[in-house]
Amino acid sequence: MTYECISVEKRGPSAWIFHNRPNARNAESQLLLDEMDQALIEAIGDEEVRVIVLAGKGDHFSAGHDLKEAQINRANLTVEQRYAYEEQRYYDYALRIWDCPKPTIASVQGACVAGAFIVANMCDMIVASDDAFFADPVCHSLASAAVEVLVHPWVMGLRAAHEFLLTGRRMPAEEALRLGMINRLVRRAELETATSELADKVAGAYPFATKLVKRSLKRTADIQGFRNALDAHFDTHQLSHVSDEYRKMREGGLAAGISRAKSTTGR
Ligand code: ZN
Repeated sequence: MTYECISVEKRGPSAWIFHNRPNARNAESQLLLDEMDQALIEAIGDEEVRVIVLAGKGDHFSAGHDLKEAQINRANLTVEQRYAYEEQRYYDYALRIWDCPKPTIASVQGACVAGAFIVANMCDMIVASDDAFFADPVCHSLASAAVEVLVHPWVMGLRAAHEFLLTGRRMPAEEALRLGMINRLVRRAELETATSELADKVAGAYPFATKLVKRSLKRTADIQGFRNALDAHFDTHQLSHVSDEYRKMREGGLAAGISRAKSTTGR
């Protein structure tokens, strides 16, 4: 299988699925998301693969959803069309990562923003390098109620999630480690090695026992309301796409929205 926007490498027991649009800061276009989902399904079905790593080629994990493409192709979607697009590509694809029966690790450098914040945080574990930063500035940039999948309070705690979303600021990897959002913080040059070491250790466990313990951990989150909360937020997020402030932002253009956020978030 050849891909245009991602690349897949088998390394020992792991399948590495890379965002591979480094010249576009690995922006998640429709094709990239479709390919990543396809590659995930293939890795799940491949008996040789014990661990799945999601990563990014170049300087960044990913800057998030491809907004240039969104402005060209999806500026005038109806409520129904937008709901269907976001449900499939943002929500269902994300939950497929969450529900993946094999262990998943995100290997994060540089920007991990908005849509990419979803992808990385759907993984079971995160290894990040010291240049990595996390952000979800869309309350400031796009007049949207966060991204489509509100995983934030589950991975950083409720208190931190409020500040993170309401300020739209960047969270450095060091702070993410302190909050327990990532598992390992390493130097940039050591990111792939550290990710591989973790993957190899995980791959040493019995696969069926691994699958079952993952199930129990995910069910623990579900019993606490994880899936219901995410379902509820997805619908609330859709409401923000039909608000007056969203319409005004869109009339001014996404680029203006993004530069607005640069000043209001203090960058
Ligand atoms: Zn949306």
